[in-house]
Amino acid sequence: MSALDFPQTSTVRRIADDERARVLAAPGFGTHFTDFMAHARWTEESGWGESSVLPYGPLQLSPAAAVLHYGQEIFEGLKAFRHADGSVWTFRPEANAERMQRSARRLALPELPVEDFLASLRAVTAADEPWVPKATSEESLYLRPFMFASEEFLGVRASQTVDYYVIASPAGPYFPRGVQPLVVWITDEYARAGAGGTGAAKCGGNYASSLLGKREAAENGADEVLFLDSETHASIDELSGMNVFALTRDGRLLTPALTGSILEGVTRASILRLAADRGLEVVEQRLVMSEVLDQLGTGEITEMFACGTAAVINPIGSFAARGGSWTVGDGGSGEVTLALRQELTDIQYGRVPDRHGWLTRL
Ligand code: PMP
Repeated sequence: MSALDFPQTSTVRRIADDERARVLAAPGFGTHFTDFMAHARWTEESGWGESSVLPYGPLQLSPAAAVLHYGQEIFEGLKAFRHADGSVWTFRPEANAERMQRSARRLALPELPVEDFLASLRAVTAADEPWVPKATSEESLYLRPFMFASEEFLGVRASQTVDYYVIASPAGPYFPRGVQPLVVWITDEYARAGAGGTGAAKCGGNYASSLLGKREAAENGADEVLFLDSETHASIDELSGMNVFALTRDGRLLTPALTGSILEGVTRASILRLAADRGLEVVEQRLVMSEVLDQLGTGEITEMFACGTAAVINPIGSFAARGGSWTVGDGGSGEVTLALRQELTDIQYGRVPDRHGWLTRL
């Protein structure tokens, strides 16, 4: 049972039906927002309380709100999928709820109970039901829960007032070009996270620190940046918002082990399971970048891909760095990569049985 009930304070829609239809015809990613949002407030004195679903709109925040100075903030990202019968589902939301709790612990924020997290998703999706795209496409309603230090206070300590919101945004493909092999830039200058740091938490600061690396990638004609571990600058951590996999010729699927400096992706965990189901040997270990590049040269590694909720699974076509460039396989989309992508999206859109019990009806 959820303690928070998120009552809807207004049913007045912000956006007219014809405007919503226009947005849903080409949603893009992360640029359009729905009519409503969910909110709950936590105070040190009373814990979680005061939940509601209210009209989407600007927040009122003190200029001294601690988050604006000390970055005490975490977030999550997951999707609501419409199935052919019109019902709306989400994928492994407990995993996101639990990851948000781990992020909260690391950032000294309060943990939101899993049931309350699920109640907030249900509440906002129910209010914004017309915003969930049709079942026919690979589109979804992206849900963005987040939590931040809202106390009006200057000084370095954990905030005694915290606000939690869920906003929603209709989503098409994450990359404007769709599922096309990515060019990935390997940065030797910037790291995303260090030992003992916040790399395993989904906090805004990790993304702020990735931006220069992303800019460097773009300046070098790449789509994404790959971060190496900060200690040795030798092994693969992850991209700025996606985990990385490599497939070997002899049927092993390799991905960096969870060292505390990378985010434990829900997509990553799901792929490990689906790959094992298809008889691949899944290996979580340290992946040394120079060895991976050598193995691309010898053909030992045949496919590589990046994965995350937003982009699902996206092939990596090539790497570039100051020292040169390397093609993955024939530079196209690998067969196993595309098969895993198909299988995962078939489950999410209810086109095949949900063997693992990964779907939750909203
Ligand atoms: N790594 C980072 C840094 C991310 O931001 C994300 C996206 N949440 C991922 C990996 C993939 O995680 P998930 O599969 O849960 O979306």
